[in-house]
Amino acid sequence: MPHDFANDAEAERWNYRPSHPIALNPLFAWPPRPLAVLRWYRGAWMMLTALTIPFLVAVLVWAFVLPPLEQMQVFHWRWIGTVWLMNIVPQAMVAGGLHWWLYMRKGQGMRKKFDKRDLTRKNGTFTFNNQVLDNIWWTLGSAMTVATVYQCLIFWVMANGWVPVITFAETPVFFVAWLALIPMWSGLHFYWVHRLEHHPKLYKHVHAVHHRNVNVGPWSGISNHWYENMFYFTTYFVHLVVPSGTLHLMFHVYFQQLSPVFSHCGFEKLIAKDAEVAKSGDFFHQLHHRYFECNYGTSEIPFDKWFGTFHDGSAEGTERTRAHKKQMYTK
Ligand SMILES: [Zn+2]
Ligand SMILES: [Zn+2]
Repeated sequence: MPHDFANDAEAERWNYRPSHPIALNPLFAWPPRPLAVLRWYRGAWMMLTALTIPFLVAVLVWAFVLPPLEQMQVFHWRWIGTVWLMNIVPQAMVAGGLHWWLYMRKGQGMRKKFDKRDLTRKNGTFTFNNQVLDNIWWTLGSAMTVATVYQCLIFWVMANGWVPVITFAETPVFFVAWLALIPMWSGLHFYWVHRLEHHPKLYKHVHAVHHRNVNVGPWSGISNHWYENMFYFTTYFVHLVVPSGTLHLMFHVYFQQLSPVFSHCGFEKLIAKDAEVAKSGDFFHQLHHRYFECNYGTSEIPFDKWFGTFHDGSAEGTERTRAHKKQMYTK
């Protein structure tokens, strides 16, 4: 059923929002809905999305830029520098490109833009008094540094043969299945780390940096405090536990680092010359930034539904979230 916007006091705060409740992955629905599951994964994998774009970047970088594992047996600035560039360059291109198209060139105007407002300038909440510069600093400075350190450690362990490294030729079925499962692992890890960060003590000193952005933009995606990044990127260490190839780590890296650029870009879809080019924004997470204590996870695994913190975009969702917040802070 479509939302009843006429009776929603929040309606005027949005420029655009989906007219139907936010959908969650039907894989977890009961009774089973196999056709809906098929449609869900076709929608994610067969178009340009926050999933397929990171995958394409991963394959290209893996094939043409990643130094061979043999070189990584001992730490050397040359390959470490390459790994750092492998992080910095795609991040700056994707976040910078989207920021240019959506907020500087205003290429699609307000079409499919969730929030009515523009990004903030001259605001003392932000480092350098400017939201975009603040976000660029926390992304390229903090996030990329921590991500590079973790990745180099994992490559080094893999290169020395201290964990099994698999190839497609040896185990094609497991290789592909594990690749396909990475977004789900990432969603599971993110939910728990993120819930922890909303603990009032951690929130105040750490996660608040990310939540300065109530109205989000592409550079907000992984604009996180140093400590938050130290938690957030531990997701990569799964490759020291589950046998993986270097492509698994690369896909994980770009999924973890580039998909938030899309999910925070503030626009539901990218439009050029009246044609939809890609699915981008994520109203699910946009609501998290507007109302805080809801939608801690992603729509991939419905943890929020199971634990009663799901906001589907409706007026009831807002009411439920406000009641939950009150109860959280009066305990
Ligand atoms: Zn949060
Ligand atoms: Zn966020």
